[in-house]
Amino acid sequence: EQQQGKTAVVIGGGITGMSTAYYLEQQAREAGVDLQVILLEADDKLGGKVQTVRRDGFVIEAGPDSFLARKTAAVNLCRELGIDGELVGTNPNARKTYILHQGKLHRIPQGLNIGVPTQFMPFATTTLLSWGGKLRAGLDLIKPKSTHQGDQSLGAFLERRLGTEVVDRLAEPLLAGIYAGDLRKLSMRATFPQYETLEQKHGSLIRGMLAQAQEAKAQANAPKKPELGARPLPNSVFLTFRTGLARLIESIEAAYKRTEVRKNTRVEKLEEREGGGYTVRLQDGSALEADAVVLTTPNFEAANMLPASFAAKTQLNQVPYVSVATVVLAFDQGAIDFPLDASGFVVPKKEGITITAATWTSSKWLHTAEDGKVLMRFYVGRGGDEAIVEEPDEEIIRRVRKDLQSTMGVTADPAFSIVTRWKRSMPQYTVGHLDRVKSFTDQAERDLPGVYFAGAGFTGLGIPDCIGQGITTADKVISYLKK
Ligand code: FAD
Repeated sequence: EQQQGKTAVVIGGGITGMSTAYYLEQQAREAGVDLQVILLEADDKLGGKVQTVRRDGFVIEAGPDSFLARKTAAVNLCRELGIDGELVGTNPNARKTYILHQGKLHRIPQGLNIGVPTQFMPFATTTLLSWGGKLRAGLDLIKPKSTHQGDQSLGAFLERRLGTEVVDRLAEPLLAGIYAGDLRKLSMRATFPQYETLEQKHGSLIRGMLAQAQEAKAQANAPKKPELGARPLPNSVFLTFRTGLARLIESIEAAYKRTEVRKNTRVEKLEEREGGGYTVRLQDGSALEADAVVLTTPNFEAANMLPASFAAKTQLNQVPYVSVATVVLAFDQGAIDFPLDASGFVVPKKEGITITAATWTSSKWLHTAEDGKVLMRFYVGRGGDEAIVEEPDEEIIRRVRKDLQSTMGVTADPAFSIVTRWKRSMPQYTVGHLDRVKSFTDQAERDLPGVYFAGAGFTGLGIPDCIGQGITTADKVISYLKK
């Protein structure tokens, strides 16, 4: 029997929606499903949070600057697209990081993984912690493991194992860059479930991390089966492209064969169609018919699109989103009289300045500036302290430059500056997040068959996790359409 062609509509052209469309095409081909994909993006360009600006020889990221190499979904996609040869790693000579403590930049002790010490000497000698704080962290070695059931906050967990000082002075600022949120509200299970496992297995976080490091070392030394035809990757925890992360976006877009991309197309509503399938109503008054729909916009946007009859949609608003802004400043080398020998610095909340983190971009990533030029990027705004994001550009820049003077002594005028506001951009996985996601998706599966949800507000916000969600969501859609 001849099967009629199907249509899948993907809403949102960020990295999640783009990878969903890409893998939908691929899996439809493999499954022999005749599928047309339509990708709808409200903005005039694809990429969502991934936005590269190429200007005056600089490669500037307004959003994410790289992705984790160890989570394989991103690297695999790069290989499929044939752009893995353009990946670059961080500058090996600028891999350390500083933390601001009492107004001064201190080097983060070596071997410190989100505040968990895995090397004795650097930790024992650091000026970042008091002796009391160090001894308290050491108690982790003898404190019994927790009998806690269910999810807990990452902050509470780390505080119980390592003490308040390690949390406030090290873990909080180091993690703020990823989640821009409050450690004492964030879910352990949705952010660092492996720490809980290590505690349970080894009775101590430090011992667990040491064992893990040993294992990783043994694995690294073990003879590897060569991956057939795979190019070796740069030896770096983080990766990006010589021409910026937009390269990934451009390559996915160029690879589409059966995906129709519609930019400047904002979705307003999703309606159930009698007899099955959905009507996607657009802001311009037109509508599309779809057999399956994937929503990849921020959760609060998705909540507004769903039919009123689907009561569970309000649960999507339980994920709070924090606003941040990034400020890029470009300089001539001669204007900076400060040794940029690291990837940058992070700032604990208690320091009370505007900057929450600084990236010495042209030191961390050598491809981002020409010789003789310096590029820096600063984050402002974090959970509980977002008002700065609403200020005009000049005020944000003024405050960043004031902090730049007090922390690094830089007073020179930048050659140019770029402020990017990311309002409600950082989803917060608060305690119980994964259970809520599960409960929501179960209800959606039951009440809205053929509608799927993916993206940074669900099961992972890093680029590889977003791509991974694209793969699993495409898989679900194809199984559904084959039924
Ligand atoms: P988005 O990128 O938000 O895409 C959603 C898309 O939906 C947008 O394009 C939007 O315009 C569109 N849309 C919204 N409403 C509608 C509608 N009604 N109709 C049609 N389209 C609509 N991750 C890393 O891995 N490494 C990093 O270094 C890193 N740094 C970051 C720095 C910043 C400043 C930010 C904000 C995030 C960072 N992240 C980083 C996280 C990562 O960038 C994001 O989690 C990820 O890009 C989100 O992708 P997404 O496709 O799920 O959502």
